Amino acid sequence: MRGIPKLIRENLETVRKNIAEACRRAGRNPDEVTLIAVSKTKPVSLLWEAYNAGAREFGENKVQELTDKLPALPSDIRWHMIGHLQRNKVKYVVGKAALIHSVDSLRLAEEISRESVKQNILTDILLEVNIAGEESKFGISPEDLLPLTEQIAELSGIRIKGLMTVAPFTEIAEENRRYFQKLKQLSVDIADKNIDNVSMNILSMGMTGDYTVAVEEGATCVRVGTGIFGERDYTQQGSAPV
Ligand SMILES: *Cc1c(COP(=O)(O)O)cnc(C)c1O
Repeated sequence: MRGIPKLIRENLETVRKNIAEACRRAGRNPDEVTLIAVSKTKPVSLLWEAYNAGAREFGENKVQELTDKLPALPSDIRWHMIGHLQRNKVKYVVGKAALIHSVDSLRLAEEISRESVKQNILTDILLEVNIAGEESKFGISPEDLLPLTEQIAELSGIRIKGLMTVAPFTEIAEENRRYFQKLKQLSVDIADKNIDNVSMNILSMGMTGDYTVAVEEGATCVRVGTGIFGERDYTQQGSAPV
């Protein structure tokens, strides 16, 4: 275990450096890009190591894990809900997650709206787009995105801040460039409509395998897990990873 803390610090430095270089290539300011440390399945001790190395944005894909870890870590962390969200879990995550990346239906948005109004807060959300039309993936189809954005924008208690996608799994990051370009274009098209309550300032795209390409194509949030914390071990599933 002794080696792990140093490793996380080094991994974070490497990822930050790669982001900065991708920004330079694309003529972007690195301050425009938020690195989200995706800590799903990882124990709180490793999140502390990332925290001590400067990480303040953490991503979790399960409500239970997010709400378990949140009280065990400092309150200046911004928690990102990046996984598929069931309507019956919305009440546990509203007020806790700084940003919900995975809104993919009107019914889910309505539930977030209801809970936010009840708590008298505004919840920032992204709309998740299934950019490659993969059967196995959650997300709104590009064709449905504009009408759904218009409907969700009518709801109180929530603000649409941008788009998110999980690009196809590939060993060759370059293959996903066209999908990142496509998501960027969708966000520009929606921004052009000037819909009330909708801004398209956030583009959440890029993971360990392809985040530098995503940054080159305009990502403002990259979600990196393995590249910071190492491979995930799913054999322990069911036991609380805290
Ligand atoms: C797990 C996960 C990530 C991080 O994946 P890595 O390949 O480990 O970087 C990013 N986004 C979402 C939605 C995830 O579920």
